[in-house]
Amino acid sequence: MSFSGWKKYIGDGDLVIFYINRDNLSPVWIKSGKSSTNRFGLFEHDNLIGKEFGSRVISSNYKGFIYLLHPTPELWTLVVPHRTQILYLPDISFITTYLDMKPGSHVLECGTGSGSFSHSIARTIAPTGKLFSFEYHSQRAELAAEEFRSHGLGDLIELKHRDVCRDGFGLKDTVNAVFLDLPAPWEAIGYAKEAFKQHQTGKICTFSPCIEQVSRSVASLNDHGFVDITMYECLIRNHDVSFIQKVAFKDAIQQAKEKKENVTLGKRKSDVILDLDDTVEKMLVSKTNVEARGHTSYLTFATFLPAFEENKIDTSANITASLV
Ligand code: SAM
Repeated sequence: MSFSGWKKYIGDGDLVIFYINRDNLSPVWIKSGKSSTNRFGLFEHDNLIGKEFGSRVISSNYKGFIYLLHPTPELWTLVVPHRTQILYLPDISFITTYLDMKPGSHVLECGTGSGSFSHSIARTIAPTGKLFSFEYHSQRAELAAEEFRSHGLGDLIELKHRDVCRDGFGLKDTVNAVFLDLPAPWEAIGYAKEAFKQHQTGKICTFSPCIEQVSRSVASLNDHGFVDITMYECLIRNHDVSFIQKVAFKDAIQQAKEKKENVTLGKRKSDVILDLDDTVEKMLVSKTNVEARGHTSYLTFATFLPAFEENKIDTSANITASLV
């Protein structure tokens, strides 16, 4: 069973995400002879083995139904046992894109925490990339390592138990991207610089809830020669999509005039609102709430540039070559 691959049918020993409703999902390891109970009743695993992922199944005692979903990093983030604060999908997708992660990338992440982001990184860089993940809390490190193994990510993720602010990453000339989600990222930035592939540009991101932490990280990024330092905040806004009736400009003017005349004649305001009927063409619009919730942290990005001297292009050689 693997997060990096895809299966059609559920087998004995597979991890399945039970979708009970929008706010209620749970991870279940399928085991022949076992059963699971939730608010919709009893689900015997023997009845689930052989079912297609995505199927809707009714409980043995006919109390209701659930959907059997294939595990994905997105679903795992919704069901992961929280051992720490975790990264959620808006930040995950933003960081993944801005750090240019792709199949084959070598990525460094610290700390591993609950492994929410690690699952998404692993899927993005598979099959040939590598995630170097660091965690200084021994129990968290053990649990995460075991989870990565059982999810089929053992070859993609190398988890190391260490305090990176004290001991560094022990990596040199290895990674394309660095993500730091720990209380004092500025203490690890110098070590992160060594971990970058030294002859390519690379990207770094620090994730911090307070602006004071951002300010210290920016100072450290600057001191270590990173460029393009930019801070973003990922805010969530709900879009309510609904139909409204389309009104031609001249009709709108006419309605406004009529309203004005009626108000002048002393009619009550409620009598003068013209209801548009069903014959009027409709269009879809999206309204957003003014209030935007969902801030988790500030995302500070910067670019690592290879040392200028080592990469200096020998322009004289190029000119000579083109003349010849
Ligand atoms: N990004 C993770 C996720 O999505 O699940 C959550 C990371 S959690 C907020 C921060 C983790 O960093 C904690 O588990 C903590 O133990 C670890 N940490 C803090 N300082 C560290 C250090 N100096 N070296 C290694 N790990 C550290």
